[in-house]
Amino acid sequence: MNLTYSAAEQAFRQEVRDFLTASLPDDIRERVRLGRRLSADDHVRWQNILSERGWLAANWPEEHGGPGWGPVQRHIFDEECAAAHAPTVVPFGVNMVAPVIMKFGSEAQQRHYLPRILANQDWWCQGYSEPGAGSDLASLKTRAVREGDHYIVTGQKTWTTLGQHANMMFCLVRTDPDARKQAGISFLLIDMASPGITVRPIITLDGAHEVNEVFLDEVRVPVANRIGEEGQGWTCAKFLLTHERTGIAGLGHAKQALRHLKSLATRVQHRGRPLLELASFRQRVVKAELELMALEVTNLRVIAAAQDGSVPGAESSLLKVRGSELRQELSDLTRRALGPAALPFFPDFLHGDGELDDPALAESAAGTAQYFNRRKLSIYGGANEIQKSIVAKTILGM
Ligand SMILES: Cc1cc2nc3c(=O)[nH]c(=O)nc-3n(C[C@H](O)[C@H](O)[C@H](O)COP(=O)(O)OP(=O)(O)OC[C@H]3O[C@@H](n4cnc5c(N)ncnc54)[C@H](O)[C@@H]3O)c2cc1C
Repeated sequence: MNLTYSAAEQAFRQEVRDFLTASLPDDIRERVRLGRRLSADDHVRWQNILSERGWLAANWPEEHGGPGWGPVQRHIFDEECAAAHAPTVVPFGVNMVAPVIMKFGSEAQQRHYLPRILANQDWWCQGYSEPGAGSDLASLKTRAVREGDHYIVTGQKTWTTLGQHANMMFCLVRTDPDARKQAGISFLLIDMASPGITVRPIITLDGAHEVNEVFLDEVRVPVANRIGEEGQGWTCAKFLLTHERTGIAGLGHAKQALRHLKSLATRVQHRGRPLLELASFRQRVVKAELELMALEVTNLRVIAAAQDGSVPGAESSLLKVRGSELRQELSDLTRRALGPAALPFFPDFLHGDGELDDPALAESAAGTAQYFNRRKLSIYGGANEIQKSIVAKTILGM
């Protein structure tokens, strides 16, 4: 493969940069830069701007209204968005359920849901995990009993990211309790306004309301909202997870975090010298940088192999493990570089609209919260231990 960008790709990078300079609202850019939580309105505003430009569904083919970019363009786009402090697109609609609807949905389902996702009209959340069904997802218990044209769904989902804002949830349910674990599962699209749904917040270690429990009590879901055949849910679920994992590697974010760390460690003084000159610290930064370079090449290799439009298979597990470990290491180094400045916790500033008078405090306020928040990267999208087993079996043949 060719590791240099072509003239057309470099021109594309400039086009993305110009767009971000002109269109990313300053207040949103600043909130992302400082690691402050975005409101639902911030996400919607930015995604509307992307949608109007035709760039919200960066991974979609042209036939469904996407920009028709190849993997390299998508990679450049992600990198530039992270460098410009643009918000990450909420992935559940555009990156997760949409590919499933394209592959397994009926024509009517594609006609109904895809244009709505493209126009940023729905906020989707992911109803996979349950208490007792995380790594062992196939043991999920949420039950869907067929009654005429409806399923009656009862059970509990957990860790539902941003479910408090969602109007739609894609959900794995058990339609046949007697079939083999995986064979009894179906994939349903559920309107979050349906009677019988309760969403309760879970507050995480960084004080944020990012995840929720979702209780379903005899919720009526039209059979027409099932994707694929009854009992085919596991196939849809696995297909979706490869898309989810590839995104978690977050190379653009890792690059941005490394730039920030290096600039911080140049300014912070240790015994009268920049911290970056301290051998023990520098060694960890250099190691992280080398790993990032290696990961980028691996990522490019994987996406080059998927040029024909296929999705990465077990390689997505590899990217997820290395990318998440790297991003955790970078957040750890940032917290260490901040030293005592990482200690104060300002929840109103980080999670609300409260302001801090001292710009230096504002710059460092998110250090510890982000360190805690990044712990999630090695858990969600399938815990890293599970991904290592997938790599061992599928790629290494062990
Ligand atoms: C911040 C956050 C957001 C999330 N968002 C969503 C969401 O929007 N929707 C959703 O459906 N889910 C979501 N999840 C859930 C996530 O997918 C699960 O947490 C994950 O799959 C792990 O499951 P678990 O938490 O039940 O842990 P467990 O499965 O109980 O695992 C606990 C530990 O045991 C290890 N372990 C378990 N089995 C094995 C094994 N066979 N071999 C080796 N080690 C093993 C795991 O690696 C882990 O370290 C989210 C999780 C987090 C933390």
